[in-house]
Parts: sequence; C-alpha cells; structure tokens
Amino acid sequence: MPDKIVPVLIVGGGPVGLALAGDLGWRGVACVLIEQSDGSIYQPRMDMVGVRTMEFCRRWGLVGAVEGSPYPRDYAQDNVYVTSLAGYELGRERFPGIGQAAPPPQSPQRRERCPQNMFDPILRAFAASQKSVTLRYRTRLIGFTQDAERVTATVENADTGVREQIAARYLVGCDGARSLVRETLGIAMQGNPALTYTTNVIFRCPDLLSLHDKGKAYRHILIGPEGTWATVVAINGRDQWRFSLIGSSTQREYTTAEIEAAIRRAVGRDFKFEILSVLPWVRRELVADTYRQGRGFIAGDAAHAMSPTGGFGMNTGIGDAVDLSWKLAAVLQGWGGDGLLDSYTAERQPVGARNVAEASGNLRRMLSVSRHADLLDDTAEGAATRQKVGAEFSELMRREWFTLGIHLGYRYENSPICWPDGTPAPPDEARSYEQTARPGHRAPHVWLADGRSTLDLFGRGFTLLGFGASAAEAAPLVEATRACGVPIEFVPLNEPNVAGLYGRKFVLVRPDDHVAWRDDRMPDDPKRIIDVVRGRENGPGKAAWQREPNAAKIA
Ligand SMILES: Cc1cc2nc3c(=O)[nH]c(=O)nc-3n(C[C@H](O)[C@H](O)[C@H](O)COP(=O)(O)OP(=O)(O)OC[C@H]3O[C@@H](n4cnc5c(N)ncnc54)[C@H](O)[C@@H]3O)c2cc1C
Repeated sequence: MPDKIVPVLIVGGGPVGLALAGDLGWRGVACVLIEQSDGSIYQPRMDMVGVRTMEFCRRWGLVGAVEGSPYPRDYAQDNVYVTSLAGYELGRERFPGIGQAAPPPQSPQRRERCPQNMFDPILRAFAASQKSVTLRYRTRLIGFTQDAERVTATVENADTGVREQIAARYLVGCDGARSLVRETLGIAMQGNPALTYTTNVIFRCPDLLSLHDKGKAYRHILIGPEGTWATVVAINGRDQWRFSLIGSSTQREYTTAEIEAAIRRAVGRDFKFEILSVLPWVRRELVADTYRQGRGFIAGDAAHAMSPTGGFGMNTGIGDAVDLSWKLAAVLQGWGGDGLLDSYTAERQPVGARNVAEASGNLRRMLSVSRHADLLDDTAEGAATRQKVGAEFSELMRREWFTLGIHLGYRYENSPICWPDGTPAPPDEARSYEQTARPGHRAPHVWLADGRSTLDLFGRGFTLLGFGASAAEAAPLVEATRACGVPIEFVPLNEPNVAGLYGRKFVLVRPDDHVAWRDDRMPDDPKRIIDVVRGRENGPGKAAWQREPNAAKIA
C-alpha cells in the first residue's frame, strides 16, 4: 500500500484528461495524469474548438496558442454538398476563414478550427506548466479498488511492464469510450452502441484543390443516387484530407483497393494520393447512468459517446472537466461538501444526454437524403432532382452548422447546488442563445468599459457582483462566505447594460462562471445560501432533481 496519497489521479491524456489536469493545476490542486500512449496523434479526430471551450482557453491563457496553431486562418470553412468534388454542386453553406469570423455577441471568443494534433499539444503544455501537475505517459491503468479513504490503482509501465500502485483521494476516468474506469466502477450506459461502422482515412494530396472547381471548403458531403455516403474534410487546410466512409449499422471491412476506389469516386476522377492512416470506428449514441461512483468519476467520452456530427464530443467533455475540477478543488481544499461531488452527475449528465441526442439528430438529418436514380443524369429531370435535393438538404443541414445554443445555452436546471429564482426556464434551442443570469446558466458575457469581458471577472473562487451596490451592502453574504472558508470576491459594477442583462442587484457566480444565486436584496440567511452552493446542504432545486433522476435519458 503506497504511503503517499495523491489528491487526484486522472486516467487518460486525451483532450479531456489534459484539460482537467490543467484546470486542477490552475487551481493549485495536485494531480497525476497517466496516459498509456506517448501522446502522439496519428489520426486527429476533433478539430472544432467550440466557443465555450475557447472561453476556458481564454481563462487559461491559451487563446494565443490556439489562434497561432498552423491551421490556415484564411481557409474558407464552407460546407459543400456535392455528387463528387469534380461533379455537381448541390448546395453550399458559406463560412469565412476562422480568422475572418467575428465572435458572436454572446461571447468574447469565436469558435476555432484547431485539429487534435494541434490542440492536444497546447493542452498538454498548459497542464505540464502547472507546478502541481504530473504527467506520466506510457503508463497504463490495469485496475483499481476503492474504500472509504482512497482509491488504489495498479498501473503498468507500457515499455517495461513494471507495475506499481498509486493511491489517490479521487480517480477520474478520462479514458475514452471504452473506459476501463467506467467498467470497473460498474456504471452502465444507455442508448445505441452502434449507429454506424465508419471508416476514416487520412490521405495526402497537396494539389487536390487543382483537381476540382469547388474551391476551398472545410467539408464536402458526398451525395450519390443512393443518398449521403461519405465526407471529405480539409483536416489541416494544406495537403491532408480526412475521407469518411459513413457506412451503416452493419459492420464491414474494406480492402485497400475498395478504399482507394471510394476516394476516387468522392473526388470524381483518377488522381494520385497517399493514404496516411485508416481508422475503422463505431459511431455511438450513449450516455452513462451516473458520472460518479464513490471516489471514482468519469468525464468526456468515458461518460458520453456521440456522433461527431456537430463537433460536440470533446467540447462537452471539457465542460465536464471544468465542472468537476472546481468541485474537487473545493472538497480537497476543505471548503466544499460531498454534495458538490454528487452535483457533478446532476449537472453534467443531462448536458451529455442533450448533446448526444443533438449529435444523433444531426446524423439523421445528414443521412436523410432518399434514393434518386437520376441524380447524376445530364438531363432536365436530373437537373431538377439536383436542385430539389440541394435546396432541401441545405435547409436541413443548417441546424448542424449554427449551434451557439448547444455550446452556450446548456443550463444546470434543478441543480442541487443552485438556488432557483423562480423564473421560468428559457427555451433550450440549438441555434440561438439569449443570455441570462438565471441561476444554473453560464453568466452572460458583456464587454466592460475597461475592455474586459464580464467572464474575465470569474475564476478560482466565487464572485459576488453588486450592481450599484456598496461593499457594505454586500457584506452579509461576503462575510458569511468567508467565515466558511469559501473564497469569494465582491465586484461592484455600475454599468447599466451589464446590470440590465444580469437582472438583479446581487448575482453570485461560481468558479465555473455559472450563476449560483441572484436577488435584489441580501438573503435573510446568507449561511444557508452558501451551504447550498458549496454542497453542504440540499438546495431547493434538489427535490425536483431527485424526483426525475432519469429525465435526461436520451430522447
Ligand atoms: C471523426 C471525428 C471528428 C470529431 N470532431 C470533433 C470536433 O470537431 N469537436 C469535438 O468537440 N469533438 C469531436 N470529436 C469527438 C472527440 O474527438 C472526442 O469526444 C474526444 O477526443 C474525447 O476526448 P477524451 O479525452 O474524453 O477521450 P479520448 O480522446 O478518447 O482520450 C482517452 C485517452 O485515454 C487513454 N487511455 C485509455 N485507457 C487507458 C488506460 N487504461 N490507461 C491509461 N490511458 C488510457 C487513451 O490512450 C486516450 O489517449 C470527433 C470525433 C471523431 C471520431
């Protein structure tokens, strides 16, 4: 039994594990991350860093690194629907290069295109730069046990086979869709384990753009007489492309000759290219029943496996990491109660289920094109079919391309650690998000007169915003909070546009930017508010959450 107990052991050094390690380190919490590989990315999967994830990057000081990554910022991000790259264009949603797009008014940041082979190293460098973080690559989790005091993990050096034990207060499985941590914790998943068996192929062709007339575009969706069958994505905006043979729910393997023929069909002509890697994978629609079991937690793909249609997977996982991180920090630093750790499932599992369902909806829409025998015919009927298919498909696909609501509009409804203010929940829409400081929502972004975003005010502890309020007026809540050892800062603001959006004189914002409580006056019992938001007491929201524990099941 090891003498030393590390506060947090993270299993998995994908983007979610790295983000969790980095955020824990940023909060001064010691953690060890183990990753079985050496961290090299042979097949970049994610490439869209959503607007909320970019807000976290802003907090972590990583915006410059993301913006400076080698993906060309003037590369048009169009989605084009084609019979082949050299064939008919059926429709197109135009998007400028990432560097030319403005952030939405609801955020200080815009979404970014930063493929995993560029983004993971940024997160890795961030985590490695934190004094309290230890990253151990080529180290594999073999198994673990837990008791009331600790988790004891057996890990193996992937090069030498030498095994050792690591004891930790808490263990977080960020170990991907086939999570050993989830399995060992006995956590089941609900949903569909195999939507499609898809094959991704990265190929190199420096002059692909000269082989067709569609110009620069991020994604080409290939539609044939049989319907949607493949996509081609500009994976590095230069010479590499990801070809995705979508497949179906029936498993099948492709020979190299079949893959090459499919790539030529997609491009619409014979041409020279080099296959760099082939990755068969299963598209899933699953969410875990719970994200916590005792001292063990799961986050990222370990907790929810979704279709990449929409680019929500990693972004949802990094949201998990940020929600869990401050709660672990609070408990380890002695100011948070165990209820905080339970609230992780209550808050994040419904978001996982929501995003999994949205991603599957996107897939259904993409695959909804029916059979059109005359799609490729060079006839008036063929042209009419192409026009109709293109117009319908363009309309249908917009839901996937405009998803600000998914990235910013999630809310922690009925959270046991938020204090509801009695206002009704605004609609949860994929496309749009109207900012609100209603408890449970991410606090609104507004540019302050000094050039900062309101989001720049929040971070390591709680922040009490007082609109036109003095420190003396805020003192009852601030002092009660400090008396409990909970870090809090009072920030008086006198900017009417900010006050209008925040809607109350006092707004208490959590370390993860979500609103915990708001009112026009100080509470009669400030200690009770603070005990709820730090997970020491059940809040008024908990009853509803307990009544409907499975409300978040995939629709
Ligand atoms: C084609 C495609 C495109 C995508 N595009 C996007 C996108 O644009 N935006 C987006 O947000 N998401 C996207 N996704 C989803 C995204 O890639 C995943 O959601 C994300 O990688 C999950 O991160 P993770 O850290 O949870 O898991 P993973 O990235 O799977 O990392 C898990 C890590 O755990 C390690 N591990 C596993 N078991 C052990 C063990 N026993 N011991 C030690 N280490 C272990 C693994 O080696 C791995 O490094 C896409 C997915 C695909 C397939």
